[in-house]
Amino acid sequence: MTAFEPQLEAMRGEALRQVQLERLQALLARLRRNVRRSRDLLGAARVESLSDLKALPMTTPEDLVEAFPYGMFALPLREVVRLHSTLGPEGRRLVVGHTRNDLRHWGRLAARQLIAAGVTASDVIQIRFDSGAFTPSLGFLLGAEMIGASVIPEDSLHVDDQLEIMGNYRATVLITTPSNARALAAALAANDRDPQSLPLRTLVLSRPVGPAEREALASGLMAAVRCSFGIGEVVDPGIAVECECGRLHAHEDHFLVEVDNGELVVTTLTREAMPLLRFRTRIAARLEEHRCDCGRAGVTILPEARLDGRLRVNEVPLYRHQIAAVLDRTPAAGRPFRLEIEERRIVLDLEVSAEVFRDEMRVLADLRNDLRSEFLNRLGVEAEVRYVSPPA
Ligand SMILES: [Zn+2]
Repeated sequence: MTAFEPQLEAMRGEALRQVQLERLQALLARLRRNVRRSRDLLGAARVESLSDLKALPMTTPEDLVEAFPYGMFALPLREVVRLHSTLGPEGRRLVVGHTRNDLRHWGRLAARQLIAAGVTASDVIQIRFDSGAFTPSLGFLLGAEMIGASVIPEDSLHVDDQLEIMGNYRATVLITTPSNARALAAALAANDRDPQSLPLRTLVLSRPVGPAEREALASGLMAAVRCSFGIGEVVDPGIAVECECGRLHAHEDHFLVEVDNGELVVTTLTREAMPLLRFRTRIAARLEEHRCDCGRAGVTILPEARLDGRLRVNEVPLYRHQIAAVLDRTPAAGRPFRLEIEERRIVLDLEVSAEVFRDEMRVLADLRNDLRSEFLNRLGVEAEVRYVSPPA
């Protein structure tokens, strides 16, 4: 096994259960002491063994909205060194805090993924996300620095420039979103350029993709593909590591994972600033126990669809509710609307009255432009607006 923390990643049986139980008890003590909501919910509940977990109260994304901004924090702000904004239910903003130790742990968990992908201190890593605030870029930056690789962090760049930098700096590893990887593969194909002319040999994706897409990216970029897995409200990446056998092993020394009614539920065992007890992730998943050839012991997570209607457009997560809110802010825009989600943009069919449709084409053209820039500025997505007359 090529692993960053081989002993911890292979820990199983009684040794693992003991670590988990001690950390869970410490977590409950911390929550009782410092988070009023948890104190009320936990009452006199005690944990003598890990099976007592099932009786403990759950935490939902709606609870995080209610506690916004700092009600879920278990430490005073002076001990929190990083605040990340993430998307909650219906597009509401949530805040995730990290202490220095949280960042250190996060870096180690990201490093586990990089080492499992075969990355070494001699590699040059291009990290490329559309926005620097996208947490995978920050997590992988910590992880890459921890293993001593050379990092080229990059914000939005034209794919041609990205390819040029990759060639000139001899980047052997690319960490990015599936859509950026697809755009690079398409640019190579369009220019009739052999992907083997690039120094790239490993591609680490920000989220899991299906087998067909994985295969297409592996051959389009001539690179070994690994997918990371994280949860915005906890850490992303860093919940699990994809091993050389293609399994996503949960980091069970840092998280307890359960599936309740088909939904992945995560308890943080080591997080200090914002520990979460039995957090309902709104991700459908299955768990499988394997004796994996890689030697890692963590239970395999098989994530499936989102359960909360979260959409993804050009890697930007969003909810229908946010689209409706943009239309509400633009009084001239018609309601209701019909929505099509394309890979890189949304297409909106708006109803306008027959008179407007006939008489005011110029007004409609202005409105279309206004809406386009509203969607881009507020939600970060391209929108194509089409007008339809209401049903008679
Ligand atoms: Zn494995």
